[in-house]
Amino acid sequence: MGTKLYIKTYGCQMNEYDTQKTVEILKKEKNIELTQSPDDAEIILLNTCSIREKAEEKVYSELGRINKLKEMNPNLKIGVGGCVASQEGENIFKRAPYVDLIFGPQTLHKVPELLDQEDKIKAVDVSFPIEEKFDSLLLPEASGPSSFVSIMEGCSKFCTFCVVPYTRGEEVSRKPRQIFDEVARLAEQGVKEIVFVGQNVNSYKYSESGRILGLADLIQISAEINGIERIRYTTSHPLDMTNDLVEIYKYVPQLVDHLHLPVQSGSDKVLLDMKRNYSFDDYLSIIHRLKQIRPSIKISSDFIVGFPTETKEDFEMTMSLVNEVKFDASFSFIFSARPGTPAAKLADRSTLDEKKERLYELQSRLNDFQAAYSKELEGTIQRCLVTDLSKKNSREMQARTECNRVVNFHFQNPNILGKLVDIKIDEALSNSLKGTLFTQ
Ligand code: SF4
Repeated sequence: MGTKLYIKTYGCQMNEYDTQKTVEILKKEKNIELTQSPDDAEIILLNTCSIREKAEEKVYSELGRINKLKEMNPNLKIGVGGCVASQEGENIFKRAPYVDLIFGPQTLHKVPELLDQEDKIKAVDVSFPIEEKFDSLLLPEASGPSSFVSIMEGCSKFCTFCVVPYTRGEEVSRKPRQIFDEVARLAEQGVKEIVFVGQNVNSYKYSESGRILGLADLIQISAEINGIERIRYTTSHPLDMTNDLVEIYKYVPQLVDHLHLPVQSGSDKVLLDMKRNYSFDDYLSIIHRLKQIRPSIKISSDFIVGFPTETKEDFEMTMSLVNEVKFDASFSFIFSARPGTPAAKLADRSTLDEKKERLYELQSRLNDFQAAYSKELEGTIQRCLVTDLSKKNSREMQARTECNRVVNFHFQNPNILGKLVDIKIDEALSNSLKGTLFTQ
């Protein structure tokens, strides 16, 4: 029997990917086995995220609960990784002295050796050896028909509200050979869909033999790997939606009819204060070009409401953009100041009540568009990837459309799990679709 590891992941897809990689490394080097219960774990790791307000406090409260387990089992090892670990570093020992190791997003490959450290100061590594991290990642074991593939790490954009460049370091792109090997290995294991992930995924750039490869090249080459039937990528920055990346939608049918492209605001003034380096018109022009090439593409986005310098008029610009683009399922939040970022020093121009009203208005409109798109799917045949058995009904399976909606449908033959099938959409519900298997 291996050592039992409980790992809890907070935040974004990058963190999910990092957790998966940490587990693969620990399985190989420490013979660990995963447990779903912290109560019987011998190692507990928290892979933290600092994007939301009070993230640190939440981590410390969780650590307090875990410490109760350590009081009963002094051999329990407790580790903190991810962005909060990167920001706080050794300070974590001051508030939670029972923690044994601290690692950042770029040092997860060092967890096996940090676990062995007796000296606490040596059990901290929150540096940014990103290339070393990429070099030490193991070839993956597929855990389903869809898989993340990390292609770059970090971010050099320094948006004024964001901590990522400080917690994950500046951008580093992964070697193309490592990426293609990983994609090929996943395809051999039956993976049909790959999701290229990176904090700023479309800024991928790698210079090799005098040629610069970008995300468009990775997509085109990966699409030729036998077995890869769907390609997604996230999260993108509008500034890096280059012409060749837009054009690739013409040539690669595996590239899904859906793009998540965070805009954050529709006001040019707020975008400038956020240091996003594009305007309302620039963003709209990208969407128009994409829609010319792929009329059916759906766009989702991220929005920050109540940025300190946002006025009612600025917010109206965001609503104009929303009405123009008609976004699909999107994420929206009230601005929360992240310590150490330039935006945290800006004075607020609106009250919390005003911000809440704006958020309500924005989310209502976004929900309307999302519901309308789901309704439009009724009666159509959608190519869907069968991802799982339904959790609620043992005679149903779950699949995902290209625009990432969950479809529940009755099945006869369980062998369709992991395959792409055609499903007729019968009904749009508020958070999912119901359908009937059409062909396999
Ligand atoms: S581009 Fe994204 S990750 Fe980079 S600083 Fe801006 S919001 Fe943060």
